[in-house]
Amino acid sequence: MPSFVIVEKCDGCKALDKTACQYICPNDLMVLEPEARADGQKKAYNQEPEQCWECYNCVKICPTQAIEVRHYADIMPLGSSTIPLRGSDNIMWTIKFRNQTTIKRFKFPIRTTPEGSIDCFKGKTLPSDLADLKKPGFYTGAARTE
Ligand code: SF4
Ligand code: SF4
Repeated sequence: MPSFVIVEKCDGCKALDKTACQYICPNDLMVLEPEARADGQKKAYNQEPEQCWECYNCVKICPTQAIEVRHYADIMPLGSSTIPLRGSDNIMWTIKFRNQTTIKRFKFPIRTTPEGSIDCFKGKTLPSDLADLKKPGFYTGAARTE
């Protein structure tokens, strides 16, 4: 199921230029409401739920844990939930069972590559023309020269 925002928890990232969920969504789905509500805050929402691929990025980055992605019923029956909480060097997944009382937590270390420092194509060949793109194995070919 696509992401949805719990409006009571969302503070619009305190009116930053770009909210955390807007920054992280690979599909540019998260937007802020055009008008502030009575409490002076704009809330985020998923503008095209059918385009959401449920990657959990927005769920993980939201500083107020205002976003949820419901897993499918065969994995997470109605009433249960799976919520990630990011730390500086780990991520904790909290699994709440549908009886609402059984809770399990799993903690994993995470990579700490600084934001914006990844060079996705490092060591890869850049195409010089369209014909290059049609060559089999092009991406894994010789290192680029720049
Ligand atoms: S990241 Fe969370 S708090 Fe910030 S705008 Fe999105 S839903 Fe709201
Ligand atoms: S789950 Fe992924 S694709 Fe869906 S709104 Fe969040 S960041 Fe975007």
